[in-house]
Amino acid sequence: MAEILIVEDEIPINTLIRKNLELVGHKCSSVYDGQAAVEIIEQHDYDLILLDVMLPGLDGFEVFEKIRGVPTIFLTAKSSLSDRVKGLTMGADDYLTKPFEMLELLARVDAVLRRTKKEAKFFAIDNVTIHFDSRQIFWDGAVIDCTPKEFDLLEALVVNRNIALSREKLLNLAWGYDYEGDSRTVDVHIQKLRKKLGLEERIITVYKLGYRLEV
Ligand code: CA
Repeated sequence: MAEILIVEDEIPINTLIRKNLELVGHKCSSVYDGQAAVEIIEQHDYDLILLDVMLPGLDGFEVFEKIRGVPTIFLTAKSSLSDRVKGLTMGADDYLTKPFEMLELLARVDAVLRRTKKEAKFFAIDNVTIHFDSRQIFWDGAVIDCTPKEFDLLEALVVNRNIALSREKLLNLAWGYDYEGDSRTVDVHIQKLRKKLGLEERIITVYKLGYRLEV
């Protein structure tokens, strides 16, 4: 898992982000202004920084200028298109527009960490190893046959591990928002994944909601 610094002056947002990232296993630190961010980054190597643009003291762009080289996702206000464009042209890895859903945050964080090679490109649980680049699943070293949708579903569970996901959310994540199938599809695929991968004890049914991968 990665070490992530959260630079956000709104304390409830900072705390919420930290709790969600810690839930999936990341190690997080929080700071609440630009100067504190620069100082802590000079003393410590982070794999990723979540950097709010509107900060007291130094703003997010000024902080970014001083910390070049550390993978960064900017947190920008919804109204400010120029901030989003500016962040990317400065070389940020991605941006998130506030308010954002935590699942979107986790997906972006995961994508940037994989791209910057800080995040393992595989994930291991019990006898199962998932290789994200080749989209292969191994059981004790042997390749397991799985369909693209089974892989997408498993990936959604892994990225959001320890978080209860509704059937609708899993449909959106694995099949896409324009898919019109019903949520029974998710149940069928979950059953197959549990059986194929021996993850009956890991893929937990969440009563009246959906599923959670317990790690
Ligand atoms: Ca702010």
